[in-house]
Amino acid sequence: MSAHAKQTSRRDFLSRFRAVPATHSDPVDDVVRPPWARDICDRCTGCGDCAPACPEGIIAFDGKNHPVIDFTKGECTFCGACSDACAEGVFDRTADAPWTLDVDVAKTCFAENGIYCRSCGDACPETAIRIAPQLGGRARVIIDDDTCTGCGACLSACPADAISITRQKDTAHG
Ligand code: SF4
Ligand code: SF4
Ligand code: SF4
Repeated sequence: MSAHAKQTSRRDFLSRFRAVPATHSDPVDDVVRPPWARDICDRCTGCGDCAPACPEGIIAFDGKNHPVIDFTKGECTFCGACSDACAEGVFDRTADAPWTLDVDVAKTCFAENGIYCRSCGDACPETAIRIAPQLGGRARVIIDDDTCTGCGACLSACPADAISITRQKDTAHG
């Protein structure tokens, strides 16, 4: 994945997302928690109120009944309804960053194997995906890290299940 800045002001805004410090309560797994969620392990009671509040229906629960995002169901619109529904102080909307996520494209990508496909690029609301033609009919899918918000719209749009979205390491998103 490589980066090509397209919108300087947006890049400046999103660059703050990467400044969120880690906390002692971060779990070691790679699950994606709802945006702005912090201290899940310490604060979440597993009440389940955040999931039905999500208009996109993308909140599921892990084995401890703590919320996780399921991007196979759709994308996050950053509406904040999950945060509003939580009475336990799990969410910190004062944080600059809703989350810090990595989006990766696997080798099973159709475009990278010479099969025409632009599904992820068409789905991306931020135009953060560029599909660059290469010699031999193949293409490279390039995601602009600075523009990408981690919304997840590209994941469910991919017919090759080639897109994965994971937490960046050492970030507060417990
Ligand atoms: S911010 Fe909105 S769309 Fe995103 S997970 Fe929370 S409720 Fe769902
Ligand atoms: S509403 Fe808050 S306390 Fe309840 S399950 Fe969701 S994050 Fe946990
Ligand atoms: S996660 Fe969202 S913003 Fe990022 S590349 Fe995918 S669709 Fe675009």
